[in-house]
Amino acid sequence: ERLVDAEVDSEEQAVEAALRPKQLGEFIGQPKVREQLDLVLRAARARGGTADHVLLSGAPGLGKTTLSMIIAAEMNAPIRITSGPAIQHAGDLAAILSSLQEGEVLFLDEIHRMSRPAEEMLYMAMEDFRVDVIVGKGPGATAIPLELPPFTLVGATTRAGLLPPPLRDRFGFTAHMEFYEPEELEQVVRRSAELLEVHTDAEGAVEIAGRSRGTPRIANRLLRRVRDYAQVKADGVITREVAAAALEVYEVDGRGLDRLDRAVLGSLLKLFGGGPVGLSTLAVAVGEERETVEEVAEPFLVREGLLARTPRGRVATPAAWTHMGLTPPQQSSR
Ligand code: ATP
Repeated sequence: ERLVDAEVDSEEQAVEAALRPKQLGEFIGQPKVREQLDLVLRAARARGGTADHVLLSGAPGLGKTTLSMIIAAEMNAPIRITSGPAIQHAGDLAAILSSLQEGEVLFLDEIHRMSRPAEEMLYMAMEDFRVDVIVGKGPGATAIPLELPPFTLVGATTRAGLLPPPLRDRFGFTAHMEFYEPEELEQVVRRSAELLEVHTDAEGAVEIAGRSRGTPRIANRLLRRVRDYAQVKADGVITREVAAAALEVYEVDGRGLDRLDRAVLGSLLKLFGGGPVGLSTLAVAVGEERETVEEVAEPFLVREGLLARTPRGRVATPAAWTHMGLTPPQQSSR
C-alpha cells in the first residue's frame, strides 16, 4: 500500500465521505468545470427539468464522485452509484434503469469498463429514456420496450478517449478534471483540517499540499498521517516542521515522491549516469517488476518532468539530478 496512491483504499471510504464538499460553492479548484457545471445546473433548474447527461474525465482522486454527488444535491435529486465493472450484463443495467426515480442522478464510475451489450442499451436509455428488454431466447425472443423516467447520467472515466464515440456523443456536457494547483490543495488541506478539528498553521498546509501530487485524495490522506504524528510527537499542531518530519517518516519527499519513485530515479542516476537505459534493466536494478516501474512509478515522474521515455530508453532530466541532490557526470568530471 502506497501512501501516495491516488486510488481509494477500502478503509478510507468512510473518512472520505465526511470530507466531501456538498455544494458546488464548497468545491475547491477546477474553476472552468465549476463555472460550466453551474450554468448547466442552473438552466436545468430554471426549466424545471433534469440536467443533461454529464461526462467527467480525469485521474483518480480528483473529485469525480464528489462532483456527481454535488450535481444530485444541487438538483435536489437522489443519486444511485454504480460502476462499469459491476454491470456485466445488459439485464443488470435494465434493472437499475427501470428502478430510477424521475430526475434521479445515476453515477456510473469507470464507465469505459462496461460490457458491450450494456453499453448499447445505455445509448437508447440516454437518448430516448427507453430500453428494450429482451424476453426469451433464440428465434422466439421478443423485445419489450420499457419507458424510463427522465434521469441524469453522470459517467466518470480516467480518459474520455477510452469511450466509444457513440457513447461520448450522448453526453450533453463533458468536463475534464485537471490536477490541482498547490494553492488549491492548500485550501483542500485547510478545509479538511477544520472538519477533522486539527490545528494547522499556514505553512503546515503548504507543506502537505506540496507533497500531494496534485490530488485532493492524497492531500487528505497525508493530512491524516501528519495529524497522527502531530498528536504523538508534537503538541497536536501541524506546522511546517511537523509536517516535514512526519512525511519523512512515511518516506514522502518534498515533491511527493515516495520510496519507489526515489528508488527508480536513484538507480537511473547513480547506476546508469542518468540513462538512456532500457525499462527492463532499470526494473531489475530497482528490484521491481517492469510493470510496476512503468505503470506505478513512471507516470508521476514523467508528469513532474523528472524522467523522459525516449526510443533509446529512460532518461533523467536535469531537474532529476537537482531533486535527488546529485551532480550530473559531465560536471563532476570537469
Ligand atoms: P476515483 O476516480 O478514484 O473514484 P474521484 O475522482 O471520484 O476518485 P473523489 O472520491 O470524489 O475522487 O475525491 C476523493 C477525495 O478528495 C474525497 O474525500 C473528497 O472529499 C476530496 N476532494 C476531491 N475534490 C475535492 C475538491 N475540489 N475540494 C475538496 N475536496 C475534494
